[in-house]
Amino acid sequence: MTPGVSVSGSPVVDGGHLVSTSPATGEEVGRFPVADAAAVAAAVARARDAADWWRDLGFDGRRKRLYAWRALITSRLDELTGIMHREGGKPIVDATAESAGAIDHIHWAAKHAKRVLRSRRVGGTLMQSEYTAHVEYQPYGVIGVIGPWNYPVFTPVGSIGYALAAGNTVVFKPSEYTPAVGQFLVDTFAEVVPEHPVFQIVHGLGDTGAALVTSGVDKIAFTGSTRTGKKVMAAAAETLTPVLLECGGKDAMIVDSDADLDAAAEAAVWGGLFNAGQTCIGIERVYAVDAVYDAFLAKVVAKAGKLTVGAEPGADIGPMTMPSQIDVVRRHIAAALADGGEAVLGGPEAVRPPFVHPTILVNVPETSEAVREETFGPTLTIARVRDVDEAVERSNAAHYGLAGAVFGKARAMATARRLRSGMTSINSTLSFAGIPSLPFGGVGDSGFGRIHGADGLREFARPKAIAKRWMPSLVKVLTFEKGPRDTKLTRLALRILHGRR
Ligand code: NDP
Repeated sequence: MTPGVSVSGSPVVDGGHLVSTSPATGEEVGRFPVADAAAVAAAVARARDAADWWRDLGFDGRRKRLYAWRALITSRLDELTGIMHREGGKPIVDATAESAGAIDHIHWAAKHAKRVLRSRRVGGTLMQSEYTAHVEYQPYGVIGVIGPWNYPVFTPVGSIGYALAAGNTVVFKPSEYTPAVGQFLVDTFAEVVPEHPVFQIVHGLGDTGAALVTSGVDKIAFTGSTRTGKKVMAAAAETLTPVLLECGGKDAMIVDSDADLDAAAEAAVWGGLFNAGQTCIGIERVYAVDAVYDAFLAKVVAKAGKLTVGAEPGADIGPMTMPSQIDVVRRHIAAALADGGEAVLGGPEAVRPPFVHPTILVNVPETSEAVREETFGPTLTIARVRDVDEAVERSNAAHYGLAGAVFGKARAMATARRLRSGMTSINSTLSFAGIPSLPFGGVGDSGFGRIHGADGLREFARPKAIAKRWMPSLVKVLTFEKGPRDTKLTRLALRILHGRR
């Protein structure tokens, strides 16, 4: 075994370097210098120095650079997806789809930042008719981005692309499991923006992320577990540093009686199992109404049973990226069975590290850990429900509230609205994530704040209100000099404007 390399694929620190390894083979993928607190502070200081230059490029200047970045990534797609495959175990087809989504988001953010964030005049009020009102969206300055390993391109770029387009500089801490992918993003950006360190990376374990949170950045955009998200928020509270938290989920899919069952089964299998189920917005629970439950389940089992599992680039399901996650999946399968559930595909024997084969669980009580907690593996629980009302009630009982899906016709839109989550797809899964104009984020234990779309751009800008008096005040209000006449006129205006129902 190479010194410092774990055969399990867990990264280790060796001689001050983070050693990234393949989860399938334990082979070394790269070495990256670990940033301690002083190195993180230095990166943030450099980012602050670069911030004025990047802001002053304006929307048009930044758009040009961001367009060049997305074109460069596109031209080097094979290199990027190769790194993603080696470092995270992700099949090339999934790595390509993920990168395509990220590139589209960079384009959208760059293209629309001016329209969404430019200074604009807004309506005033007759009560203060001598004023014009303006809103500006000013960049925060330096954004700290802490990223996960499961989507090492799409997820951080959802913050990085929008933060940069809004005029901020960025210091990025990638997951210790995917430093090489993060390095690729930073290196390609530096090729198109060589002048200043507008987008930097700091490598390391959790304490490097913790150092970034307390480094004096102007905002933190975090993606990861709810548990770590709470720690990040608590640490950020010390300095009132605002946070955007993109945490886990236990997303539900509802199959109504008028659903296209083939499409629903295909979507449940793909939405639940692709990327080895390591998807924050992946489907983990399915509620199918009684009338279609049996037919739907049979289709899911048939489709999931055909998936290929392996380390080769063309496999449907690759290895689990984070070895410790395999224990979580194993525990949830065991809990489902111990609580009275049944595995109609897979089961305990499906866990063959570093792989987990598709597992479909039925009759699992709602109180089971397998239904309540994020599994993050290629498993699905499928439950029979009386009707859509029961499906909605069970879906909404989760403490998470990230996303979900509805399959059906007549009631689909109304059902989607009733789900307590930030995002819902109808007759598809995960489709909202690839539509750049839609906001992305959750409620409850899934976090708060939004990336993507106009809301995602505004997330990385401070709204600034400017009220400008353009003529003397006819009625004196904002002064000690007001007299009885001014109060009388204020009362009169109030009656005229607001006195009637
Ligand atoms: P974590 O939440 O521990 O890690 C997410 C990121 O935060 C990583 O970059 C991590 O660095 C960093 N980090 C860790 N500790 C701190 C800290 N105290 N302060 C600041 N940053 C920190 O997730 P894991 O990777 O350990 O995954 C655990 C679980 O989280 C998974 O099982 C899954 O359920 C969920 N998850 C959800 C994701 C989502 O997309 N919503 C993505 C990833 C995980 P490092 O990697 O070096 O520890």
